[in-house]
Amino acid sequence: MYKRLGSLVSHSYAHFSKLLTQKHFRFIHSEIGPTMSTTSGLVIPCKAAIAWEAGKPLVIEQVEVAPPQAMEVRIKIKYTSLCHTDLYFWEAKGQNPLFPRIFGHEAAGVVESVGEGVSDLQVGDHVLPVFTGECGDCRHCKSEESNMCDLLRINTDRGVMLNDGKSRFSISGTPINHFLGTSTFSEYTVVHSGCLAKISPLAPLDKVCILSCGISTGLGATLNVAKPKKGSTVAVFGLGAVGLAAAEGARIAGASRIIGIDLNPKRYEEAKKFGVTEFVNPKDHDRPVQEVIAEMTNGGVDRSIECTGNINAMISAFECVHDGWGVAVLVGVPNKDAVFMTKPINVLNERTLKGTFFGNYKPRTDLPSVVDMYMNKKLEVEKFITHRVPFSDINKAFEYMLKGEGLRCIISMEE
Ligand code: NAD
Ligand code: ZN
Repeated sequence: MYKRLGSLVSHSYAHFSKLLTQKHFRFIHSEIGPTMSTTSGLVIPCKAAIAWEAGKPLVIEQVEVAPPQAMEVRIKIKYTSLCHTDLYFWEAKGQNPLFPRIFGHEAAGVVESVGEGVSDLQVGDHVLPVFTGECGDCRHCKSEESNMCDLLRINTDRGVMLNDGKSRFSISGTPINHFLGTSTFSEYTVVHSGCLAKISPLAPLDKVCILSCGISTGLGATLNVAKPKKGSTVAVFGLGAVGLAAAEGARIAGASRIIGIDLNPKRYEEAKKFGVTEFVNPKDHDRPVQEVIAEMTNGGVDRSIECTGNINAMISAFECVHDGWGVAVLVGVPNKDAVFMTKPINVLNERTLKGTFFGNYKPRTDLPSVVDMYMNKKLEVEKFITHRVPFSDINKAFEYMLKGEGLRCIISMEE
């Protein structure tokens, strides 16, 4: 598969350079090159990784990115990374297929231009795009408890911008679908201003890009939703970046035991760096893993956080919490037809089941403070970054995730 990916990428580069007419060339160098603001209001031709079909390698091609409309912002992506949610929708096995599409939602960038009505962001601001937004006006945004904005909450099936129901990306007039309102596998992208968190200009974008989804999600799932007390026992299902961020939250909250559950034993070594103290592989047991955990913990864990997307793991995560006080939090994105089944007595026995998007953080209000946690050395981000590739090798990031290798792979747009 590697060879095939490589040849596709180099073929598309050749195709890309052929596409660059003299006019485009002059445009790119005289107008995008030196100062970003001179491209304001113009269509920008740039490179993007296009998913033409489910499960097929992305192809880097030239795409035209239209200027931002009302309440939209066009940003230059500096770094992006791959989260499992991109992979699910690219594979489109348990999700609705929508192609051609530009994936990517975990990223960091710089504002290139702003549309009408955008008053809180300016050209040059450093921003993290987020897959779910914060309009600031709806009941959810006004509630202290919710981050499920009525206008901008996650919508995995929409491929267009809200303002006019159209895409801002096209190739020779053919529209290319957006993904999660972010589409960060492109040198330039257009995002609703409510889905952009303005962050400290001092924060290194090649690191804090992973705070725009996975790490904040796992961290918030523990700190904001599960809320373990000091000395608690916490189970984390799925030891990918999201799960290990949940473990990091448990460590910060002062958990006494953090039990990691994963089908892939390669994950265990890495997980020790995140304070995971015990491991359970469901494959090693001929009875449900919730029973194994109940036995290990004298009746169940105080808190559990599910970060796999697998329905059986979700049910186990709920059933392994202690009766009377246990709280389970679902984070993984399930297959669209999955149904959660458990005996009602498990709930009557005073167990609580919760779920969260983005760790209950309000993207614009709260994300800058997560970045500050990193800047103040309260949160370690580096240990999540196991691979780096240039944009031209973006398909390698997919390969690593498919093989369950490493945690986060940073894709650098400028190499
Ligand atoms: P990842 O692929 O890096 O990690 C997932 C881990 O789960 C893997 O190590 C895998 O071996 C393990 N796993 C899979 N099935 C399992 C099972 N039945 N039992 C035990 N372990 C199992 O993925 P990630 O990027 O860390 O994302 C984790 C999940 O979180 C995904 O479902 C992703 O879509 C979801 N997610 C949700 C949100 C949200 O806001 N709710 C945000 C980001 C990601
Ligand atoms: Zn809102």
